[in-house]
Amino acid sequence: MSARVQLDFQKMIDVNTPIIYIHAYDFVRVDDVINKVVGSSRIIEWNPITGRTNFSTKEPQGEELLPLDAFLRDIYLDEFFTNDRYIVLRDIQDIIDTTEIKTVLQLMALRRLYDPTYNTTVIIVSSVQKVPTELKQFVSFLDMGYPDEDEINSLIDEHVEVNGYDSFNDDDRQKLMPSLKGLTAFEIDRMLDMAMSSNGTLSAEDREMINRHKKQMVKNSGVLELIDTPESLDSIGGLDTLKNYLKIKAKVLQHLPEAQNAHVTVPKGVFIIGMPGCGKSLCAKASAALFDTPLLKMDMGSMMGKYVGESEANLRHAIKIAEAAAPCVLWIDEIEKAFSGVGGNNDIMTRMFGYFLSWMQDKTSSVYVIATANNADNLPPELKRKGRFDEIFCVNLPNEKEREAIFKVHLGKRGHKDLKIDNVLLKATDGFNGADIESVVNEAVEDVFVKNLDGKNDTLTSSVLLDKAKNTISISKSCKKQIDNMKKAFAESNFKDASKV
Ligand code: ATP
Repeated sequence: MSARVQLDFQKMIDVNTPIIYIHAYDFVRVDDVINKVVGSSRIIEWNPITGRTNFSTKEPQGEELLPLDAFLRDIYLDEFFTNDRYIVLRDIQDIIDTTEIKTVLQLMALRRLYDPTYNTTVIIVSSVQKVPTELKQFVSFLDMGYPDEDEINSLIDEHVEVNGYDSFNDDDRQKLMPSLKGLTAFEIDRMLDMAMSSNGTLSAEDREMINRHKKQMVKNSGVLELIDTPESLDSIGGLDTLKNYLKIKAKVLQHLPEAQNAHVTVPKGVFIIGMPGCGKSLCAKASAALFDTPLLKMDMGSMMGKYVGESEANLRHAIKIAEAAAPCVLWIDEIEKAFSGVGGNNDIMTRMFGYFLSWMQDKTSSVYVIATANNADNLPPELKRKGRFDEIFCVNLPNEKEREAIFKVHLGKRGHKDLKIDNVLLKATDGFNGADIESVVNEAVEDVFVKNLDGKNDTLTSSVLLDKAKNTISISKSCKKQIDNMKKAFAESNFKDASKV
């Protein structure tokens, strides 16, 4: 059990916090913390299913289900009770907003603060964070975080001991660790149980199964996606400066303790701004392979919630998962869609932006952030200032040499790595982005295949590719105005060119 969480909880109690709010999904772990810090004999629980309940056994107490307002009124009016006691209210988010409940909680909180003989602390445990405005001043939030390596090791040890996995060794443990990070204790338990039921033991081989389920669990969080991708730096044609830069960061991240001893700053992340379809996403995906870490993609659109405080809570939740899963790459795609309104009337966005910036500024964990954007014009200048990202790169349409490299990548993927690409084709594809080139290769390969089916005995050559290129409307033509504007903006910016060697 994380000593940090227990310590924070104890401190809140020591300073007479009237209401402690624990926003968590992992009720077993929460109960464990409460139990360890205050001891179950001094706890009275209420939940919407069984009403007044024995905290340890979860047995209902009393004949009838006592409504929350009546339950709290009884507690409040129990004048003679002066010992310490803790009232755990579980999942009351749907009823906390009624006048009776708000008022009695307010009265209890005030009494806890001003009457030294009244030692009742309210602990709200809920998977949803919802605090009525009237109660905000009395509430402190306990951040449960995610299990750290020590806790994960204890959970593994319990499973190994209970199930008698004799062959489980340190190598298995080390290989499973990254897959189990960023999951709640409850989820880790489930994963370890599933490993047991799938092959009767626990070993590094269970990593694949755990990663498969973890993908779904991370997705269920609604704020992040765990991306499994085959892309490597070899899948990227051109962008040599950026690729070399990432290789250096990979070396630092893979030798972090030694790097820190040598006073090398922990890399924070990189901001990649550039033309559409030119390999920004590809770079984010390939970085995770290069760093040999999981890739978590943050969808800023899905962060925006309906309730007050929900969006900020979502962002905090996403960052918490990423921190727990570290070392990892956190990819924020289309960051301009999230933060371009900052500074205007959108208070939620401005608050989220502030939170994100201070997290980036203070971050010491090995969560490497890769933010990608098409347009940086409307982004707040604070985001582009040094200290947040280590570097800002700008990705232009590929030059001739890069187009050749991109052709080679896509031809190689389709079994034509030795095909010679002539200059005419390279000149004809001026203004094409990587996605256009991929589509030219796709169509040419398909064309040859179909002709062969028809008995025409065709082979793929540079001139077949040229034919397809001539019939392709490149991004520079289809979106001429936007691309011209972007070229101009990049030329005027101070961002580092991703392409120059
Ligand atoms: P957007 O801004 O539209 O999201 P992006 O810059 O993130 O674009 P990617 O998703 O990385 O673009 O690229 C789209 C597709 O184009 C890739 O799947 C890849 O096949 C191809 N592609 C783009 N750039 C390159 C490149 N430099 N090398 C190889 N393939 C590329």
